[in-house]
Amino acid sequence: MNAVELVGVSKVFLGKNKREFRAVHQVSLQIPEGEFFSLLGPSGCGKTTILRMIAGFELPTTGEVYIQGEQMRDRPPFHRPVNTVFQNYALFPHLTVAENVAFGLEMENLPRQQIRTRVGDALALVRLNGLEDRRPRQLSGGQQQRVALARAIVKQPQVLLFDEPLGALDLKLRKEMQLELKHMQQQLGITFIYVTHDQEEALTMSDQIAVLQEGKVLQVGTPTEIYEQPNCRFVADFIGESNFLVGRVIEQDSGGVVVLVDETLPISIPCSETFPVGKVVTLVIRPEKATIHPAHYLDQPCLAGIVTEVVYLGTDTRFVIRLTPQSTIVVRRQNIYRSNLDCFAIGESVQIQMASDSIQILGEG
Ligand code: ATP
Repeated sequence: MNAVELVGVSKVFLGKNKREFRAVHQVSLQIPEGEFFSLLGPSGCGKTTILRMIAGFELPTTGEVYIQGEQMRDRPPFHRPVNTVFQNYALFPHLTVAENVAFGLEMENLPRQQIRTRVGDALALVRLNGLEDRRPRQLSGGQQQRVALARAIVKQPQVLLFDEPLGALDLKLRKEMQLELKHMQQQLGITFIYVTHDQEEALTMSDQIAVLQEGKVLQVGTPTEIYEQPNCRFVADFIGESNFLVGRVIEQDSGGVVVLVDETLPISIPCSETFPVGKVVTLVIRPEKATIHPAHYLDQPCLAGIVTEVVYLGTDTRFVIRLTPQSTIVVRRQNIYRSNLDCFAIGESVQIQMASDSIQILGEG
């Protein structure tokens, strides 16, 4: 069963001069129950607008939103089985932590004892016991975020919506909260739909990710699928770092293709898709999947070039290698041995080796 389903959803805003602006374009998504599902994309790609249409704060211009199989068009936000956690927490400053969390339940006129128990459980879950009587200004950013979360959880929604909830926290706290949120989602077993522009955050937390650009969904998949098999250049570029080598298919058989890069280097790539001979394609290579060797080290055809940049990054070192006057390739090498740290210097001639099964081939030039 899908917790949430979007069928052909578009949103057109009327801007100045009554100009139409299409913020979301024909989005169809199926979000299974109990999943941590992220909407990922650059600023302005329509993530928040999609979330707001699920919550009911915006109505789709065309298309429909279904929650637990029910069409939501005529359901106002407070009658939808969802709750939203915003980036700015939206806590009431004059209420205590416990009162903030209890607020939604009091609106429903639940019995006092039941409210007290549920608030206690929610605060225990977000590890805020003992801080019940503090006001929001007496809490750190991470604690305020936890109150916002407890306030959303206490209503026991079927679906929780998050709009960049960790954006205001510093990097270390954000990383801690990412893992906490993921554990909490697994513990609660409810569906989380999470908006972020941070690819690392989405990879860390999600069961599935939908990558968006200019209001359209480009790819939906698990973090591994999105990273290892991006279906277009935008996704490959947005998620992590990628090298793109443009080449021409010179051979095709049932096991794969041979692509001629830079008119000189044939690369065989196993793939099940068919690409006609002569087609211009793009090869996607992750920097950590290429290895760098001294010139003449390999006795086989391979890319060769000159090191133009070396940046030590702690866990690994990032090399930029000029292949031709027009093209470069980035290679990252893990710093496992100290003795290897100064192996390649700027100006040195090197060879690049790539495992053919880690190269992704895209049918775009
Ligand atoms: P960010 O990460 O910056 O929050 P986003 O991906 O969440 O971006 P949205 O907030 O959904 O993007 O906005 C998508 C586009 O729609 C943007 O160009 C935005 O300016 C526009 N937009 C959003 N709300 C409205 C509105 N009420 N009226 C007009 N245009 C809007």
